[in-house]
Amino acid sequence: MNLDTDRKLGTGWISGTASVSLATIGLCAVFCFHFPSYLTIPEAREYYPIAWVRGLLHIILVSGFLLGLTSVMLRHSKILGMSGMGIVGLAALLGGSRVQLDTDLKSDWYLGLDYALLILIVYSLIFIPLEKLFGRLPQSVFRKGWRLDATYFFVSTMLVQLTTYLTLKPAVVLFGWADFPALHNFIRSQPGWLQFLEIMLLADLVQYWVHRMFHQVPWLWRFHAIHHSAEVMDWMAGNRLHIVDLALTRSLIYIPSFALGFDEMPMYAYIVFVSLHSVLIHANLGVKLGWWRFLFATPQFHHWHHGAEPEAIDKNFAVHVPLLDLLFGTFYLPGDRWPQSYGVFGEKVPDRFLSQLVYPFRRPQAAKQTDHQPAES
Ligand SMILES: [Zn+2]
Ligand SMILES: [Zn+2]
Repeated sequence: MNLDTDRKLGTGWISGTASVSLATIGLCAVFCFHFPSYLTIPEAREYYPIAWVRGLLHIILVSGFLLGLTSVMLRHSKILGMSGMGIVGLAALLGGSRVQLDTDLKSDWYLGLDYALLILIVYSLIFIPLEKLFGRLPQSVFRKGWRLDATYFFVSTMLVQLTTYLTLKPAVVLFGWADFPALHNFIRSQPGWLQFLEIMLLADLVQYWVHRMFHQVPWLWRFHAIHHSAEVMDWMAGNRLHIVDLALTRSLIYIPSFALGFDEMPMYAYIVFVSLHSVLIHANLGVKLGWWRFLFATPQFHHWHHGAEPEAIDKNFAVHVPLLDLLFGTFYLPGDRWPQSYGVFGEKVPDRFLSQLVYPFRRPQAAKQTDHQPAES
């Protein structure tokens, strides 16, 4: 039986995969209750409505179990369904939705597993229905490469302590000495929405050039090639970023905004916005925004950045404001056309997480490093 037939609706593959996914989310949540010191964000802990979290956890575990049961009944191979039910069983043994909350908090470092679960649930509720309703291509949530992108999602989101550090520290190191009260007062005298737009433009300007460097400097490209190795685009695909790519970009884009001293609220609003917008531009959504698409990056705009055909190479480096690409000569948005396929043109990038992690550090093989053409400037 070929792979597509084996994974069709009614074969128990979708219910089995959904069961394992939900059961894993539930088990991770139980771990958060057991080890809040190490797995939850200190600033967030006191705000959790624990009764609601327990209710949601209960629904997730019961759904995971029922989907596992469905898969076992539908499917010849019982591995997926049994695994889902097994993980739910383990979560139940560890306390399930009645798990005791450990209140002995003792660690200075933590992983944001709570944050990752929260974001995953919220984004699933927003983007899965949107892609089902307005999807450009008919494709499953569990499409090719979904596990790899989910791994990137969990790793990068759980490293929230590191990414927050990288967001704040470079500006403090570089501009901590600088104090320009008149400039700061002028910046802060502007309305919040205007500050937000300025932060977005400044961050995207830095991001544009950092991103372009990642494409044009060969050793940097080997890190960024990981992001471009996604062959299916959807709301999870943008998570595929090498940790060096993520860290370097993250540590540079906020420097001007912090140095100029914008208010906290527009800064926080931008941080929330950038996370949502970067999911949106990768999503499998055939939305049309008319002339707005020149001002505001759409899925079509960023999908061309990921196109595997030669015409798409080194185009559309901005992530918010396409006008930057118009200004610097890299804008590409041919009418209503979309790329035929996605991925890296002329280069074979490995498709497993650990292989991708070491890929930039390995010596490029002559035959594989050839065809990435730099942009014409
Ligand atoms: Zn790129
Ligand atoms: Zn992208």
